[in-house]
Amino acid sequence: MKRTLVNETLLKIGEEVKLYGWVDTKRDHGKITFVDLRDFTGKIQCVGQDKMSELTTESVVEVMGIVRKRPQNLINPNIDTGTIEVEVGSYKLLNKCGELPIPVDSTGYEIKEELRFKYRYLDLRRERMQKIIRLRSKFIEGIRKSLFKKDFVEVETPILTKSTREGARDFIVPSRHFPGKFYALPQSPQQYKQLLMTAGFERYFQIAKCVRDEDTRSDRGYEFTQLDLEMSFVSEEDVMHVVEEAVVSAVESLSAKIKSKKFQVFSYKEALEKYGSEKFDLRTDKEKEDGVLAFVWVNRFPFFKKVDVKDAAEVEDSKSGYTFTHNPFSRPIDEHLPWHLKGEHIEEILTTQYDLVCNGYEVGGGSLRAYTEDVLRSTYKIMGYSEGEILGSVGHMFEAFKLGTPPHGGIALGLDRLVMLASNEESLKETIAFPMTGNGKTSVMDAPSDVDPKLLSELGLSISS
Ligand code: ASP
Repeated sequence: MKRTLVNETLLKIGEEVKLYGWVDTKRDHGKITFVDLRDFTGKIQCVGQDKMSELTTESVVEVMGIVRKRPQNLINPNIDTGTIEVEVGSYKLLNKCGELPIPVDSTGYEIKEELRFKYRYLDLRRERMQKIIRLRSKFIEGIRKSLFKKDFVEVETPILTKSTREGARDFIVPSRHFPGKFYALPQSPQQYKQLLMTAGFERYFQIAKCVRDEDTRSDRGYEFTQLDLEMSFVSEEDVMHVVEEAVVSAVESLSAKIKSKKFQVFSYKEALEKYGSEKFDLRTDKEKEDGVLAFVWVNRFPFFKKVDVKDAAEVEDSKSGYTFTHNPFSRPIDEHLPWHLKGEHIEEILTTQYDLVCNGYEVGGGSLRAYTEDVLRSTYKIMGYSEGEILGSVGHMFEAFKLGTPPHGGIALGLDRLVMLASNEESLKETIAFPMTGNGKTSVMDAPSDVDPKLLSELGLSISS
């Protein structure tokens, strides 16, 4: 007999069905046992005469029985199948659930993070987490649909790569074949997506994993996911327009509310003057209560800033005391290109950077890019790099730029942050299936962990402390 899903039972009154799922709740009334069976489509009450009392909550079961209408006075308005129930003929206990280390029938906010993440597979069973992870998937579907309609091509870029220098420390991976040499995990697909423009794809996107060795904060770990895109022969407005359409269509597919489908644009200077910050919130108090999403663009940022000596990655990235504010691969605005090329008025040079802000959070950022050698070389010169250091860092990009790279620009949106806002949560970790704890430990599996000394010696490594 074929499986029936819980949400199909309403159409099967009087018929025999076979259901699979988890014991959501169990109530023993002497000879009769009531079990609410849960699958991914919903819950249904199953009634056992002299059976099922051995079941524990969260056990996995197969239930065979007849779908019956409930008498009027026993209707449960709280579940979709509240007008029916299953009269159980037989059942199989497929896997008995032991004592639960954490409850799964609450919101979960009351449970310690470490415990939630150790048993994340249980934690994810709770209704709130099921909703968020499914909303995340729908959001990605909405974005994909919108971009595919515009002829974007989804391309994967490498995970083992060379340092991409985007303002954070790299995670590095030792190489067995080249002892003493290391790969870096990508801080973003920035250079590869630009090379895909050289390759002639013109419209690229990817749901990309990025890894940055930044101090973990209470609401984020080392990994995050970006919706990364790049386009050739575009203006800033072209990229912004594509993003607006994709974000609006994805948000609408979640039935979330959006303040305006056209996102206002503020320059960085205007934002500071008007709101005192480049991350501001345009919502009224009423809109905040209603969970409305308010998007705005901020552009015309300074290209460079003085290095923050407390930021180790900034100190390392810069040799001159100046570093980029957003992205070393950006282009300055046309009016400031002459200054940029001559290394003059460094603090006044504005970049083509545009950031997307939602409800006071930065949810994305991008720019038009350097696509000729002189512009990118000047950026690194301003940061104090010698010719040798420049070639070592971005020499491969210079080669590509000399082999027919079109003008291009793009953006990356923080998917975790967008999902957090769309689901009205306050931590990025609530939107990630298997997040890290605040001190950088993985969910469920205990990493980082020791490795076999044999592995280390194959890699030519030894631990000094
Ligand atoms: N690569 C940039 C980042 O990760 C985004 C972009 O400019 O496309 O922040």
